[in-house]
Amino acid sequence: MCIFCKIINGEIPSKKVYEDDDVLAILDISQATEGHTLVMPKKHYANLIEIPEGEYTKVMLKVKEIANKINTKLKPAGINILNNCGEVAGQTVMHYHVHIIPRYESNDINIGFTDHSSTTDLDKVLNKIK
Ligand code: AMP
Ligand code: ZN
Repeated sequence: MCIFCKIINGEIPSKKVYEDDDVLAILDISQATEGHTLVMPKKHYANLIEIPEGEYTKVMLKVKEIANKINTKLKPAGINILNNCGEVAGQTVMHYHVHIIPRYESNDINIGFTDHSSTTDLDKVLNKIK
């Protein structure tokens, strides 16, 4: 069974930041930065694509609430909200979750984007998506 389902069922210990009937937030064991938190639905959905809107909304409202609390208590200089959807995107636990990553210095984590603006036709991309 999935490791986050085991945490939710109490089979594996965790450091709970927040819990209600639908949502659980725990400290990420890796602590990429101090206060790195994972927010997840208690029901198992594999990823962003699979989670229904109602459940997604419940999780995201708590992401906002917990981010505000972390901001007040830990006073980071900034915060990243991150979801990895799919293995190629870095997802390792296939139970939907959102990372709250407080940032203290600009170089404490690398989240880099390559600029492809000179070789990309934005209208072509837009037509594919619309
Ligand atoms: P992702 O790569 O987006 O799927 O994120 C999975 C996250 O789960 C990683 O940041 C791991 O450090 C974290 N993780 C894995 N096992 C545990 C655990 N038992 N308790 C807390 N966090 C965990
Ligand atoms: Zn699960």
